[in-house]
Amino acid sequence: MVARVTVLGSTGSIGQSTLDVLARHPDKYAVHALSAYSRIEVLVAQARATSASVVVVPTDAAAQEFRRLWGAGAPLPELRVGSQALADTAGDDQSQIVMAAIVGAAGLPGALAAARAGKRVLLANKEALVAAGSLFMAAVQSSGAELLPIDSEHNAIFQCLPHHGRAGVPTEPSPGVRRLILTASGGPFRERKWSDLAAVTPEQACAHPNWSMGRKISVDSATMLNKGLEVIEAHWLFAMPPERISVVIHPQSVVHSMVEYDDGSVIAQLGQPDMRTPIAYGLGFPDRIASGVGMLDLAAAGRLDFSEPDLAQFPCLRLSFEALRSGQVACIALNAANEIAVEAFLSNKLPYTHIP
Ligand code: NAD
Ligand code: MG
Repeated sequence: MVARVTVLGSTGSIGQSTLDVLARHPDKYAVHALSAYSRIEVLVAQARATSASVVVVPTDAAAQEFRRLWGAGAPLPELRVGSQALADTAGDDQSQIVMAAIVGAAGLPGALAAARAGKRVLLANKEALVAAGSLFMAAVQSSGAELLPIDSEHNAIFQCLPHHGRAGVPTEPSPGVRRLILTASGGPFRERKWSDLAAVTPEQACAHPNWSMGRKISVDSATMLNKGLEVIEAHWLFAMPPERISVVIHPQSVVHSMVEYDDGSVIAQLGQPDMRTPIAYGLGFPDRIASGVGMLDLAAAGRLDFSEPDLAQFPCLRLSFEALRSGQVACIALNAANEIAVEAFLSNKLPYTHIP
């Protein structure tokens, strides 16, 4: 049976990687709907390539642009407009799998609608969990949705935990698990002092050493607020208290995260830094399907380094732990303040060091 997939945020970095994996398995998956906020020309090309039945755009002007670029000939996909249409599409009964790959809290309504509809939700949009962890997890639990974490660290942890072939919602930490260890590359400024970063430009902040990603998450990775969001995300996904989640700097981004067990075992997931691996895992679970990612050559990698993060060097990471200990309201404030600060930094209205 072919599963029908909706990709929210299909024109972004995760969205494009998702379509790449789907295209490798026409026998298993077909695209139901795609959504984009801008770059309508990319959306048009994607809709053609995937024969999507539905596309969702934010405004009437964007819909008009879509029609103009589509031209005559092939039948136009059904065009839906606005944020309510986006959530309705995520929850409609025409798809079984939804990839939530919109950036920021704007991704919450779609992810939540998919969860409420009881679908398989591939969650890349970490801000949804940071801003609304309890609401979102309750929706997954009551509908019986399957929640597959796509963020590489959480996907790694999911793979290293006992899950018995079922992606349910834990209400307490898995038995025997002592600690979750999130790896972090440390971003482009790992070896520079915080006090020397005042003049950093958006281009420098977005030049991540290992991963190619959207601009917002690239800046978050540089400040390590991204790792802070991921600590909060791990808390919700795996029912882990903050003191049992730790972060280790690992500049090579080969070990994607680890689980420490009571008997002293540590189980890690390794691979190339390419998001198509976690995406393929989420699509195929509990089976393994081809992702297009090359195999890891450990001998060529040579060495793997690990070190303790310096919280003075990364104030955003410290703030995230404080927010998580403080509660949901602080996490909402953390995420909202960061979205606004990063947007201001990216439009050259705020110095990098003012983000925290
Ligand atoms: P991106 O900026 O490349 O793409 C974002 C997508 O969301 C685009 O399709 C855009 O049109 C759409 N979008 C933006 N604002 C919107 C709005 N207000 N309403 C509706 N749609 C909107 O981002 P990305 O790097 O693909 O990241 C997407 C999500 O996945 C983020 O939450 C990010 O933290 C998470 N994530 C990304 C990566 C990665 O490697 N890129 C890794 C882990 C997690
Ligand atoms: Mg990540």
